[in-house]
Amino acid sequence: MEDMEIKDKESAVAEQPVQAVERSYLKLMTKAAPDGWLKGFLKRVFFVEILQGMTLTMSYMFKKPVTRQYPKEKRESMPGFRGMHALVRKPLTGRARCVGCGLCAAICPSKCITIYTSEGKTHEKVVDRYDIEILRCLFCGLCVEACPFQAIVLTGHYEYSDSARESFLLTKEQLMDNWDKYMTDEKGKFYFKHFWVPRRSHFETSDDQAVFRGKR
Ligand code: SF4
Ligand code: SF4
Repeated sequence: MEDMEIKDKESAVAEQPVQAVERSYLKLMTKAAPDGWLKGFLKRVFFVEILQGMTLTMSYMFKKPVTRQYPKEKRESMPGFRGMHALVRKPLTGRARCVGCGLCAAICPSKCITIYTSEGKTHEKVVDRYDIEILRCLFCGLCVEACPFQAIVLTGHYEYSDSARESFLLTKEQLMDNWDKYMTDEKGKFYFKHFWVPRRSHFETSDDQAVFRGKR
């Protein structure tokens, strides 16, 4: 008697997976075909969905493609794009606006800016070298934000892939050339007007803010 009960239980356990598969198949059929399982079944038998998909694919063969054929078709980078760096050239003297204060190098999280300075004839600081190791750069823009003299910018130039590691070490001269090439005309002015942060207004206290002024 006990043997019979054990056998019944075993057969019940063996049937469970089969019933589960059947249930999930029926659920799938009714879900895929809300109008009824028969309609869904017929759709599958006559490959209706595959034919619908193929019709859609074929219809796109006769439409104008939207894919841009880069590099033949180039896209102008958006304003404020963080591309290759440039050192700003003073329009009157043609020299770099950078004074070598080192704030950009200090704030750079990847430490990819190196500045070499010396003392000039009239005891002014002279920037002998200004190097950026582009391969380590994150293009975070912190160097631009930290500079108090509007001396460094990120241009819209992004096509500078190369197989030689040396070509990614930008010198002061190359960075100034970048200014001439990519930030000429109104581009530089536009950049400073719209993307130079922080602005003075960012430090102003709003009217509704409580301010501690100390003792008089
Ligand atoms: S963009 Fe960021 S990571 Fe690159 S040089 Fe400037 S501060 Fe450093
Ligand atoms: S780029 Fe600006 S922050 Fe960096 S050293 Fe020159 S003046 Fe200072």
